[in-house]
Amino acid sequence: MHSTKHSSEQHSLDQAIQEQLKPNQPRQLKEIPNDETLVYQIEQNLYINLTDRCTLACQFCPKHNGCTEVKGYDLAIEVRPPAQQIIDLIGDPNNYDSVVFCGYGEPTLRLKPMLEIAHWVKKNGGKTRLNTDGLGNLVNKRNILPELSECIDALSISLNAQNEAVYIRHCQPVLKGSYEAMLEFVALAAEHISDVSASAINGLEGVDIDACRELAEARGVKFKQRELDVVG
Ligand code: SF4
Repeated sequence: MHSTKHSSEQHSLDQAIQEQLKPNQPRQLKEIPNDETLVYQIEQNLYINLTDRCTLACQFCPKHNGCTEVKGYDLAIEVRPPAQQIIDLIGDPNNYDSVVFCGYGEPTLRLKPMLEIAHWVKKNGGKTRLNTDGLGNLVNKRNILPELSECIDALSISLNAQNEAVYIRHCQPVLKGSYEAMLEFVALAAEHISDVSASAINGLEGVDIDACRELAEARGVKFKQRELDVVG
């Protein structure tokens, strides 16, 4: 009985992951998004938009509020750009404080091209940051932090809530166990990468910022308080 339930849960989890990982349909060249959808600058950082998919559906996420625009850039993408296309768009990574892998979707859903780009940035003298939902180990079914530590200088993890109930309410995870997996990722990250922060959004109903800070600091990482409706 238990094993049947477990295997059916595992099957649903695999299906959910596959749904997020499956490639988009091939597109004609004319439908490839413009360069500023894939690579865009905010202040002194260059942001990389690798995918619009993720296994969360955060209520505060622009894409779940009918908006595909962030700081004047339209980030809707129907294709998954190959690593070389992004590398060609970056130019000289030394022109920026950091090259940042960031949502509109979750970058670790496209781990291979993300690592390839990050290694290229490091090899060419730049700095890298990954903004993540912290579910990369759950989705990729292994500890990806050793691989990240080879090419990611700073990690920013969305902790978002002081308990699972508040997390589920605001982030609506597809994958069971996401909250625990995210907290484990935060703790493990501190062992692999020196500059790690976890964040939560001040002003979201039910979110206890002080309790989130305690969770982050107890796991050996910095806490970053974000403000509702402020992107960046
Ligand atoms: S994890 Fe990021 S990209 Fe995904 S729904 Fe939440 S805010 Fe949006």
